[in-house]
Amino acid sequence: DTTLLRINDLQTHFTTRDGVVKAVDGVSLRVPKGKTVCVVGESGCGKSVTARSILQLVERPGEITGGSIEWRPNAESDWINLAALDARGEDIRRIRGDEIGMVFQEPMASLSPMYTIGDQLVEAIQLHRPLNRAEARELAIDQLQRVGIPQPKRRMDAHPFQLSGGMCQRVMIAVALSCDPALLIADEPTTALDVTTQARILDLLKDLQDQTDMAMVFITHDLGVVAEIADEVVVMYLGKVAEHGTVEEIFDDPKHPYTQALLRSIPTMRGSSSRQRLAAIRGMVPHPQNRPAGCPFHTRCDHAIPGVCDQEHPPEARFSPEHVAQCHLYDAQGRLTATTQANGTA
Ligand code: SF4
Ligand code: MG
Repeated sequence: DTTLLRINDLQTHFTTRDGVVKAVDGVSLRVPKGKTVCVVGESGCGKSVTARSILQLVERPGEITGGSIEWRPNAESDWINLAALDARGEDIRRIRGDEIGMVFQEPMASLSPMYTIGDQLVEAIQLHRPLNRAEARELAIDQLQRVGIPQPKRRMDAHPFQLSGGMCQRVMIAVALSCDPALLIADEPTTALDVTTQARILDLLKDLQDQTDMAMVFITHDLGVVAEIADEVVVMYLGKVAEHGTVEEIFDDPKHPYTQALLRSIPTMRGSSSRQRLAAIRGMVPHPQNRPAGCPFHTRCDHAIPGVCDQEHPPEARFSPEHVAQCHLYDAQGRLTATTQANGTA
């Protein structure tokens, strides 16, 4: 078994004066060594909170209230439940950066404008490795080279504002990778970048992954990005996993009406001249505080079965060892139910 991370029934809730928001409500997923698991969904679906939960980076009033996040960087170690660690403790701090790296959407916001690229990279390296300053500096230059920054020696003395957004994101990736993490968590790392730069950063991440065999959890709202980079896909809706499967299963044979609608709503990708939106998903994502009863997608679903989907939580339907959807249209073995067939809804 080469699983590095297994999240089981994770609950991350935000307690506000107006009530409890279940931003993550029962998410389970696993990440195999060397693979990329994309977590995809519209904004507010809980994908970022899921990512931040892994490293105990959820900000108050958010809190992990249930489930487990088991981590094992290699087959020789024991499983550690990250969800049970003290968010400010030494253990999680060591794992952050040492074993699990993270890059965020806004590289500028993660780098300090006050210090040079070199200072920040050297500091990150020294935090996790017993190197003196000169050694750490050497390694920092290597890392900048590795992430495709031209004239790395000169860039060491640059301040973040002197670099483009794409270059800053490369620096952040260099920081995240400087300790050879077994897992990289990337939360919309290319969303703030233009299309060309985005493609280059995705290529870079794929190359680095080939070289190091690290795993990635890649958070995005963009199915085009998912098609580029994913091995496995987790589709989230309102804090829950609607469907998960291999990238082929999700793109070629989506089962959940939400996944199907998402795929219909993406602009046609490469190989086509038209980039228009094919169809928008009707209605709006309900506020997580007013989560609909039954299937959370029923207010927008064209296949919703009245009296069922709006009342009962959908069961798990399994289509293959990896391919699972939560939907009333299917039975546990992934066959269309008799009612569904009779109504011709799917
Ligand atoms: Fe649509 Fe019902 Fe399936 Fe939800 S459970 S996705 S409402 S058919
Ligand atoms: Mg987000």
